[in-house]
Amino acid sequence: MQNKPKYKRVLLKLGGESLSGKGGYGVDFSVINSIALQIKEIKQAGIEMGIVIGGGNIFRGAAAKSMDRVSADYVGMLATVINSLALQDALEKKGVWTRVQTAIEIQKLAEPYIRRRAMRHLEKGRVVIFAAGTGNPYFTTDTAAVLRAIEIGAEVILKATKVDGVYNVDPMIHSNAIKYSRLTYMAALKKRLKVMDSTAFSLCMDNKIPIIVFNLGKKDNIKRVIFGEKIGTLITDSR
Ligand code: UDP
Repeated sequence: MQNKPKYKRVLLKLGGESLSGKGGYGVDFSVINSIALQIKEIKQAGIEMGIVIGGGNIFRGAAAKSMDRVSADYVGMLATVINSLALQDALEKKGVWTRVQTAIEIQKLAEPYIRRRAMRHLEKGRVVIFAAGTGNPYFTTDTAAVLRAIEIGAEVILKATKVDGVYNVDPMIHSNAIKYSRLTYMAALKKRLKVMDSTAFSLCMDNKIPIIVFNLGKKDNIKRVIFGEKIGTLITDSR
C-alpha cells in the first residue's frame, strides 16, 4: 500500500446488506465495528469522508408488495436512519467525530441535511453520514450517494459491495464470471452491467464522477482503495 492517500474527499456508499453480516437481516455489530475501525484509520490519514448507507438489511420499499409504494419507501428511508445511527455510535465509540444529517427531518436525533453545514463538518474533520436517502420515494440510496457526492465535491464514489467488483455476469451464479478492472460509463451501459440503478448511474455519468466498486468483506479494503491500490472496478468517463 502506498503511504499517501490518493483522495482528499470521498463518498462511501455502504449497502444495507453489507451491515447485516451472515444473518442477512438487521445490524451485525462486529461488522459495523470493523467498518468503524477502518474509517478511524482513514480519518487519521486526513481524508474527508461522507457516507451514505442503504436500508436493504431492514426494509426495501419495492419488496413490500402489499403496502402502498410511497409509504413503503418512507419506511425504507427510515431504515437507513437506523443504520446511520448504528454506524455513528460505533464511530464515536472509537473517537471519530461524526454528524448524521437526514433528508427527512428528525431533529430530535439528527441534523437536517444542509449542504453548507455538511461541507463545514467535513472541513473540520467530521465524518458526515447522510441518512434517509434523497428524502423522496421511488429513489434509491445509490442515487442519494451520487447526489451527495456531487454536492459535497467528492472526488470519487466508493461503492462497497459483497463481490470484488463489476463482472460480465453475476459472480454469485456463474463461477466463470470475469471481473473488469476498468470500465467507461458507456461500456457499462452497452454491456448492460448492473453497477447502480439507471437513475444513479446516469447522474454519475452526466457529472463525470468516478465510481469504484469493491468488496467490503475483505480486510482493509476501504483503506486500500483510498490509498490507490487497484482493487475492484474503476468506472470513469474515459479509459
Ligand atoms: N428509499 C427511497 N428513496 C431514497 C432512498 C431510499 O424511497 O432516496 C427507500 C427505498 O424503499 C429503498 C429503501 O429506502 O428500497 C432502502 O434503500 P436501498 O434499497 O437503496 O438500500 P440498499 O440496497 O443500499 O441497502
